[in-house]
Amino acid sequence: MKPVCRIFRAEVMGYCMGVRRAVEATEKALLDSNIRPVYTYGPLIHNPQALERLAESGVVVVGSGYAPLPDNFSGASVVIRAHGIPPEERRELQRRGAKLVDATCPRVLSSQKRAHIWHEKGYTVYLAGDRDHGEITGIEGYAPGCVVLENREDAEHLENYPDRAVLISQTTIKQSEYDEIAAVLAAHIRDLVVLNTICPATLERQKALEVMAAQVDGILVIGGKNSANTQRLAATARQLCTHAWHIETPAEIPQEAFLLERIGITAGASTPDEIIDAVEQAVKKGYS
Ligand code: SF4
Repeated sequence: MKPVCRIFRAEVMGYCMGVRRAVEATEKALLDSNIRPVYTYGPLIHNPQALERLAESGVVVVGSGYAPLPDNFSGASVVIRAHGIPPEERRELQRRGAKLVDATCPRVLSSQKRAHIWHEKGYTVYLAGDRDHGEITGIEGYAPGCVVLENREDAEHLENYPDRAVLISQTTIKQSEYDEIAAVLAAHIRDLVVLNTICPATLERQKALEVMAAQVDGILVIGGKNSANTQRLAATARQLCTHAWHIETPAEIPQEAFLLERIGITAGASTPDEIIDAVEQAVKKGYS
């Protein structure tokens, strides 16, 4: 006989503020503009199902690795995703006749502004993060000559250290990694300003998962397999619970999950609400 199931939802999960804003801005551009397609500059989020749904609604992804930029957008909307872009790319899109819909996350916008201000003050700007990540590339454009540090070793092996510098982080870096980089720079730079630019969204989802894990027998972590923050949630879930699975859709729920009495659900910051709800419904149905 199948057990009676209880489903627990993590208190914080799914879209973060920046991703929700970007998705809503794109949906609004689809409604407001009668010019098709609506473009996004790079993929809006790390979730294949959400991207598929947007493509079906008339959204085309342009930019490096995707469709080439048209010579003339002829007034079509181009959404700048939450990661933001460098100012020269913004100008290029405008030169090609794009109507820009700026969905840069306010937190990223703040990092861009602060990088620019400290650069103008004559400080060396260090950026802690992944040098290939769109957010870092975008901020770099606001502080020409800034230096990206991916880890403590990068900070240790700098050829020289300036008298004054500012350290800014990618919003999704781990606090412990950021502290390590800051400690190395602080040992060499007399006037070092360390800015707190880490976004709490990732940590909030991790903490909510930890609380939920104590109450369940198995955990379904929902989100793109290519989403870094979902991967991190799945890794934590596996540490905290014997039964933990990273799934993208209800079809991937393993049969084994239906043998457990208490199932927990969480989702990464780029997982749409409708996929979370569909998984919850499928779990309920699997028990009925
Ligand atoms: S993780 Fe934070 S900084 Fe990044 S888009 Fe979401 S809310 Fe903005």
